[in-house]
Amino acid sequence: MLNKCKAINRFYRSKEWLLARQQKIASCNGRCEKCGAIGEEVHHKIPLTPKNITDPRITLGEDNLIYLCKDCHNKEHHRFEKKEPIFDEEGNLKPYK
Ligand SMILES: [Zn+2]
Ligand SMILES: [Zn+2]
Repeated sequence: MLNKCKAINRFYRSKEWLLARQQKIASCNGRCEKCGAIGEEVHHKIPLTPKNITDPRITLGEDNLIYLCKDCHNKEHHRFEKKEPIFDEEGNLKPYK
C-alpha cells in the first residue's frame, strides 16, 4: 500500500510486532477469528496512523488485533476504503461483497 508513513513501515518490521503477531496467531490456532478459515493476516481493528503508531495499546494490544483470513481481511479494509459506490456496466449499483 502506498503512502504509509515511515514510522508505520518501521513498526511492521519491528521485533515487537512480529512477536505480538505470532502470539495472536498462536492464540487462535491459525484460524480466522471471524469465519474459522485458515487465517492469513493479523489486522488492527483501529487502523494504524502516524498519530497512534507510538501507542502500544493500539499497535500491539490484544484488544486491537484480530486474526483474519484473506476474505475477511479484504472485507475489513473495504469497509474503510470504499467511499464511492460501485456500478456495473449497466449502471446498476453493485452490492458490496
Ligand atoms: Zn475469515
Ligand atoms: Zn488489515
